[in-house]
Amino acid sequence: MRLRSGTGIILALVAGAASLRADILHLKDGRKIEGKIVEEEGGNYVVKLKGGTMKIAKKDVSRVEARKLPEEEFQGKLAALKTDDIPGLMGLATWCKEQGLKKEEREVLGRIVRLEPKNEEANLALGNIKVNGEWVSPSEAKSLKEKAEAAEKEAQGLAFYKGKWIPREDKENLEKGLVLHDGKWLTPEQLKESQGLVKIGDKWVPKSEKVRAETVQEFKDKLKRDAACSVSEHFKVVHVNGQEIADKLAQQAEECYKYFNELFGLRETKKHWTLTADYYVVDSDNLFKDFVDTIATRYVKDKSAIDWIKRPGSDDFHNSKPAPIACHVLKANQDEEGHICHIAGHFLLNWHTSVNNPDWLVEGFASFMEVKFREASRVRCSTRATYGGSAKVAEKAKDFAAWKDLVKESVLDKQDTPMLQMKEYDLNRLDFEHLSKSWSVVTFLITEHKDKFVKWIEGIKKGEPQDRALFLAFNWKVEELDDAWRKWVKSNY
Ligand SMILES: [Zn+2]
Repeated sequence: MRLRSGTGIILALVAGAASLRADILHLKDGRKIEGKIVEEEGGNYVVKLKGGTMKIAKKDVSRVEARKLPEEEFQGKLAALKTDDIPGLMGLATWCKEQGLKKEEREVLGRIVRLEPKNEEANLALGNIKVNGEWVSPSEAKSLKEKAEAAEKEAQGLAFYKGKWIPREDKENLEKGLVLHDGKWLTPEQLKESQGLVKIGDKWVPKSEKVRAETVQEFKDKLKRDAACSVSEHFKVVHVNGQEIADKLAQQAEECYKYFNELFGLRETKKHWTLTADYYVVDSDNLFKDFVDTIATRYVKDKSAIDWIKRPGSDDFHNSKPAPIACHVLKANQDEEGHICHIAGHFLLNWHTSVNNPDWLVEGFASFMEVKFREASRVRCSTRATYGGSAKVAEKAKDFAAWKDLVKESVLDKQDTPMLQMKEYDLNRLDFEHLSKSWSVVTFLITEHKDKFVKWIEGIKKGEPQDRALFLAFNWKVEELDDAWRKWVKSNY
């Protein structure tokens, strides 16, 4: 509020000065100033206004109307009331409110509710709230509400933790420093482990890194050779010719794995099955033999199998149970990626079914995988020294392009081995004609009857004999499989 000087007096705008209402100075010019005269000084009144103090010349004042401050008036009114005069106190509270005396109003209202705790008017005026029939202050009401909510939450088995209501066991676990992961409470160490990490010294590193380092070291310690190791999600590939080829083979094996899962409708996320297979490539027959003596024996428990691997001239083996492992000696110009596709085909089929699959199927499927990913098939697991029994056929066997011709020729000549016979043959009995037919039959079934093929394999997996499983999936007798396949060969090759 601005005060402006006029004719020797200071003019006060009095509106709004109500809270300091006290003396009224009537000026000779007809105006009024409200304030409290705090002293008289020479020819002036010193008047206290809301916004400060001012001096007013006595000569300009016609009369002073002395009034008490509202606070002073309040004290007088209060003193005049009987201490238990509730209607009187209520009236005083209303007067305080009109005068803007908030503190005094609350004091009076407080006095009323102490005398009469259930006095609705006073309680409402105080802003109190009725909770369960009792009047309480807003802050008490809030705390009562919170207490009631807390009791309810606790009855539900919840506990308060860091600003939130959570299950009591969760709180206990959190206070123990555990972490919730995939619905399980884990220690920080277990969490790291579940993330595929392992501790080396005080550092957490991917488990694959540890496996890789240990494998390289083991190879060096036991076989006195440096080797590269690639650890992918499902495969460990060790190779004497460097990291790049090891990585490439592991990648190729993963592609086979992915394809197999898709073919059989297996969902990795459900942990329907998991596979970790080891694949080693060495570069000499001697290293192969050392390998079998030192490492393979750890994976292959069957002594006769070990003897078989170590037989003279052997330079390659694979084993699906108990642990999938393979080793082969690399040769000049060998398609190693094709080799791993073939071997992955064995691992995957045997690992998935966990039964001794018929050998024609095992080889046919492996060749199918080779051809699928490499458009070639060069790997022979059959141990027969010459394929097909004649030089002509053996020569053709080196070239996948000749496979179709050979199959077609045998079908047209009605010379192909009937499935009824072939299904009984063991690995050593399978010659090149059998291998090419096996590959062709598997290709035919996967290409033309994928779902039934899968159903057939699942039947074998459940322990059905292969012909019974075939009938259940295709409604075919074994001879009908031959007929359907031959028809397909004639129109496709
Ligand atoms: Zn094979």
